[in-house]
Amino acid sequence: SVPAAVTSGISAGARRGLLIKGGLALENIGSVKTIAFDKTGTLTENKPQVTDVVPLEGTEENVLKIAAAVEQGSSHPLAKAIVQKAGAANLPEARDHKAIPGKGVTATVQGVSHQISSPKHASKTADLSQHQKQIETLEEQGKTVVVLLRENTPLALIAIRDEPRGDAKEAIAKLRSLGVNAVMLTGDNRRTGHAIASSLGMEVQAELLPEDKLRIIREMKQHGKVAMIGDGINDAPALAESDVGIAMGGGTDVALETADAALLGHNVRGVSDLLQLSRQTMGNIK
Ligand code: ADP
Ligand code: MG
Repeated sequence: SVPAAVTSGISAGARRGLLIKGGLALENIGSVKTIAFDKTGTLTENKPQVTDVVPLEGTEENVLKIAAAVEQGSSHPLAKAIVQKAGAANLPEARDHKAIPGKGVTATVQGVSHQISSPKHASKTADLSQHQKQIETLEEQGKTVVVLLRENTPLALIAIRDEPRGDAKEAIAKLRSLGVNAVMLTGDNRRTGHAIASSLGMEVQAELLPEDKLRIIREMKQHGKVAMIGDGINDAPALAESDVGIAMGGGTDVALETADAALLGHNVRGVSDLLQLSRQTMGNIK
């Protein structure tokens, strides 16, 4: 019977770390046309590491300490990478920390206003033309570059790289063989997004704000069923908007609560496993 096939599909999933919240979710997953992936924490490990510190004024050690003071208290993965690299000891006095969502952070360090942000946002107040080539080279290596500014003076470029999950490339190839279109959606810049996406053999849309991701999901839905997979609080609206929202295990509770399914193993392969489980289950019913 239908309920029996669905129940056994859901429990077969649970045994393999694929948590499916009900029959409709199980049914829908197998017939999605497009799967949109958040990049950070979903396709990548979310263990970003500082790879390059380029001081434009002062020493490497000094700019790193200032950068860490600005990022202190921010829960953004880029912030954690910078604080970790600098060490929490002997940071200059900083206050008035503010996040600029999707763009960066600001703080007052030793009485002077500082900012760390994407080059795009930084170039609204500072002249980065002399550093543009170096920024692009780092981005083409799949690194995210942020700029430290003191008022409108650039003090440093900091490059951070988050490695793709070990199974991501194979999992994307598997999805393609199942006839599904896999697209990366990222707030990161175009060059970094393209470098990572092309290494995984998938399409990408970059430089997206949370509302852009939502709009893209809506547009994709005009052409067929869409699944979205993400891990963060900022992914929750897109998870809710998609036909099937999938939370990556190890992500935030908000993503888990909003999603129709969750991958308890921290692997990308779980997505194609879900798809195959759904198709098998629905095949048993027909
Ligand atoms: P994603 O979609 O990859 O999770 P976000 O929307 O969180 O990215 O951030 C987009 C961009 O904004 C980052 O790539 C970075 O350039 C900048 N940014 C956001 N928060 C910070 C921060 N705390 N420190 C430095 N840069 C930041
Ligand atoms: Mg994320």
